[in-house]
Amino acid sequence: MADVIASGAAFRPASRISAIGVSEILQIGMRAAALKRSGRDVIILGAGEPDFDTPDFIKEGAISAIRAGQTKYTNLDGTPELKAAIIAKFRQDNGLDYATDEITVSTGAKQVIYNAMMATLDPGDEVIIPTPYWVSYSDIVQIAGGVPVLIPCGKEAGFRLTPERLEAAITPRTRWLMLNSPSNPSGAAYSPEDYRKLTDVLVRYPHVWVMADDMYEHILYDGFAFSTPAAVEPRLKDRTLTVNGVSKSYAMTGWRIGYAGGPKALIKAMSVVQSQSTSCPSSVSQAAALVALTGPQEIVKERCLDFQKRRDLVVDGLNAIPGIECPKPEGAFYTFASCAGVLGKKTPSGKVLETDRDFCAWLLDEHDVAMVPGTAFGLAPFFRISYATSEKELKTALSRIAAAVETLA
Ligand code: GLU
Repeated sequence: MADVIASGAAFRPASRISAIGVSEILQIGMRAAALKRSGRDVIILGAGEPDFDTPDFIKEGAISAIRAGQTKYTNLDGTPELKAAIIAKFRQDNGLDYATDEITVSTGAKQVIYNAMMATLDPGDEVIIPTPYWVSYSDIVQIAGGVPVLIPCGKEAGFRLTPERLEAAITPRTRWLMLNSPSNPSGAAYSPEDYRKLTDVLVRYPHVWVMADDMYEHILYDGFAFSTPAAVEPRLKDRTLTVNGVSKSYAMTGWRIGYAGGPKALIKAMSVVQSQSTSCPSSVSQAAALVALTGPQEIVKERCLDFQKRRDLVVDGLNAIPGIECPKPEGAFYTFASCAGVLGKKTPSGKVLETDRDFCAWLLDEHDVAMVPGTAFGLAPFFRISYATSEKELKTALSRIAAAVETLA
């Protein structure tokens, strides 16, 4: 009896999460923050978060909303005002026309994607994910009972999915293809011509839906023009969920507002999931997002130029380190560099670096630089640097990495 009671008290996670851990990006962030709190001078190049503060006019908009009493539940999947601003944004920036009931707003783009997968996947349904992918794509699919179908898209393919690989991965069980441009973690972007090759395949498979994650839309360099699948191929619009958010463009990560445009039936199904989880996104954050989308947009361009300088600094700095190879990303604020050339080497304390996880753990533990290993994004041996931090910190981090690598034998 005592045994029964003891085993009854033991915690047993649901099988849907038993194979999934806390997002590795967040784990590394928490560990690095704890080291920092303990007094270590850790430079955190982990989670992708602009170091700029949310612009004042956006903060003021939120404060006014609080004063005006906008502190109650809102419409389930977004206030009418914010939805109108999102409709205008999609029309103006992307040439996409959506009606109000084709728009959803959630607590971050992560929840948008979560709602979409929970609303559509049955056990065994497949989701094609070009790899490297943002850590949470595959875990969200698994939580929702689906099967992630990972397609390696390595450095030689410019980290982009090719039409041949896409077509080979489609089966009768395929429900979704996830696309992300510019990409987290690789920074690779798809031109309209790149997308056209994929959409030409997709028009032949009407059962495959597209989740286009456009979160880094405004962070593109060297004049690279942004495009999105539903605009490139309008015949796909009635089976595409176009996802975006205010986090990265307006430095609003903590406000947690993501949104999407998509077919009415999908948006309605997603609202069922949202109604049973969070009821609605934060009223104050929605008011702030409304100000961000309708206010002056110069800030977005200015920040992009800052990020471009930092990209160049990091790419050049990494490529100067023997054993590291870093392709030049077209956008987002990440580099995804190969550490193949340092694996197999020994640290001064005698540890052999076998994997990208070993490399990143060693740099954090012994050299105070936090980065995320490629394995977390499904492609090894690489490591991701989020360079949305000050030039000064980036320079120090690069010299720490270079000095550390020099000690390897
Ligand atoms: N999207 C960011 C990243 O990839 C934030 C972390 C997260 O939301 O998981 O670093």
